[in-house]
Amino acid sequence: MSRSGFQHATVIGSGPNGLAAAIELARGGYSVQVLEAENTIGGGTRSGELTLPGFVHDICSAVHPLALASPFFRTLPLTAHGLEWIQPPASLAHPLDDGTAVMLEKSIADTCENLGEDGAAYRKLIEPLVDDWENLFTDLLAPLGFPKHPLTFTRFGLSAMRSAQGLAKSHFKGERARAIFAGIASHSMLSLDSAFSASFALVLAVAGHAVGWAIPRGGSQKIADSLNSYLRSLGGEIITGRRVESIDDLLTSESVVVCDLTTHGLLKVAGHLLPKNYRRKLERFRYDAGAFKIDWALSEPIPWKSTDCARAATVHLGGTFAEIIASENAPPAGRHAEKPFVLLAQPSLFDASRAPEGKHTAWGYCHVPNGSTFDMTERIENQIERFAPGFRDCIIKRKSSSPADMERYNANLVGGNISGGSNDIRQLFLRPTRRLYSTPVSGLYLCSSSTPPGGGVHGMCGFYAARQALKNR
Ligand SMILES: Cc1cc2nc3c(=O)[nH]c(=O)nc-3n(C[C@H](O)[C@H](O)[C@H](O)COP(=O)(O)OP(=O)(O)OC[C@H]3O[C@@H](n4cnc5c(N)ncnc54)[C@H](O)[C@@H]3O)c2cc1C
Repeated sequence: MSRSGFQHATVIGSGPNGLAAAIELARGGYSVQVLEAENTIGGGTRSGELTLPGFVHDICSAVHPLALASPFFRTLPLTAHGLEWIQPPASLAHPLDDGTAVMLEKSIADTCENLGEDGAAYRKLIEPLVDDWENLFTDLLAPLGFPKHPLTFTRFGLSAMRSAQGLAKSHFKGERARAIFAGIASHSMLSLDSAFSASFALVLAVAGHAVGWAIPRGGSQKIADSLNSYLRSLGGEIITGRRVESIDDLLTSESVVVCDLTTHGLLKVAGHLLPKNYRRKLERFRYDAGAFKIDWALSEPIPWKSTDCARAATVHLGGTFAEIIASENAPPAGRHAEKPFVLLAQPSLFDASRAPEGKHTAWGYCHVPNGSTFDMTERIENQIERFAPGFRDCIIKRKSSSPADMERYNANLVGGNISGGSNDIRQLFLRPTRRLYSTPVSGLYLCSSSTPPGGGVHGMCGFYAARQALKNR
C-alpha cells in the first residue's frame, strides 16, 4: 500500500517526546491528534499534589538542563506559551561528611576554586566543551551519525567513551572532584565502571555551566502545558483518558501512527503487525535499574549542615567516590544499597508556588533493581539525615513510590526504569534496533526515550521521529 498522501498523524502518549513529535508533525503540515492513557497530559513531566493540598510535587522529572539545552525546544516559543525557567544560584550541591559541599557552580572559575587541587584538571576537561556547547549538543542530542562539528565531538568522545570510575581516577587526584563527578555520572543508571558512563557526567556538567540546572516555575507540568498550548496553536489536539490497546483502527492509508511508547508498549499495541525478527529484537531490549522515589511535604527548608546546599535545586547525597561506586554497582547485581546514592530536588526554595507559605517540598530517589518491591524509605532518609540532621523532624507527610507504583502511574516506566531502557553500550546508540524511529510497518514510528538520544526531558527523540515520518511521507 502506498503511503504517500498521509495527512493525519496519531501520536500515542503525551510525554515530552510525544508532544515534540506532535508539534513537529503539525509544523510539517499534518493534522495531529495525541491520545494519552492517563487523565492528565505530560507523561514524565507532570506535577500534582501527592502529599497534601497546596504542596505541588513533580511526579517524575524535576530539574531540566536537557530541556534548556535541547536544540528543538530552543526553537519553540514556549515562554510565550507560559513556561518560565527559574535558575537557582548553583546547578548542584554535593555535601560531604566534613560539613562542606562540593559545588557545580554556574561559573567554571568558581567551580574550579571549589575543587581545590583538581580545579585546573576540571577546567581542562570541561571548558573547551562549554565553549562550544551549542554545537556539541546538536551532535549529542541526535542519532549517531557523522558529527556536524567533528572537532568538539571528538574531544568529547575521547573522554566520554570511558567509564566514569576510570576517568575520575585518572583525571582527578582528590576526593571532592572524584565524588561530584561520580555523582553526576550516576544519572546514567549504569554501574560506574561501564563504558560511556563518563559521558553522562560530561554532558550534565557542561549543561550545568552552559544553561544551568533549571526548574520550571510551577513544576514540570508547566513544560507539558506549554508544549500543549503551542501544539493547539498549530491546530493539534490531545485526548486524555484514552489508552490505546491496538493501532489497528489508527494506522490507515491517510494516517501515520507515532508511538511515545517503550518496546513493551509498542509490542502491546502493534505486536501482531510486526515481523517476527523485529518483534524478537524488541523483546530482547533491556531495562535495567528502576527508581524508588519519595516526595515530602516539609514544615521548613531542609536543615543542611552545609549552607551551600541551599543554593542549588539539586543535591546529590552519596558522600565519597567509593560509596557512590558501591551504591551504583548494587542494582545491576540485584542488590539494594545500604547507603544509596540519592538524587534530591528542593524546588520550593526557589519557587514559592510549590508549597503553602513558609512550607516546602522535596523529591528524592535512588536506584534499585528493576521491578524491586523493597522499601527504601528508611535508607533514603538516613542519607538525608546524614547531611541534614533534623530532616525527619521537618516531614509533615511523605509519599513513597516503588518501581511498581511508577509503572502503574506511567506504563513507560518499565520495572521503574526511568530512561526508556538501559544505556549500556549495546543500547546507547542503536535503540531499540538499528531502525531507530522506523518500524517494518509503513507509517508506524517510535518516538519515546527508547529511541536516540534516550532518557531525559529534551524532546529530541520525538523531533527526530517526526522528521523521519515527514521524510517518508
Ligand atoms: C522519578 C523520575 C525522575 C526523573 N527526573 C528527571 C529529571 O529531573 N530531568 C529530566 O530531564 N528527566 C527526568 N526523568 C526522565 C524523564 O521523565 C523521561 O526521560 C521523559 O519523560 C521521557 O519522555 P517520553 O515522552 O519518552 O515518555 P513519557 O514521559 O514516559 O511519556 C509517555 C506517555 O505515554 C503514555 N502512554 C503509555 N502507554 C500508552 C497507551 N497504550 N496509550 C496511550 N498513552 C500511553 C503514558 O501515560 C505517558 O503519558 C525522570 C523520570 C522519573 C520517572
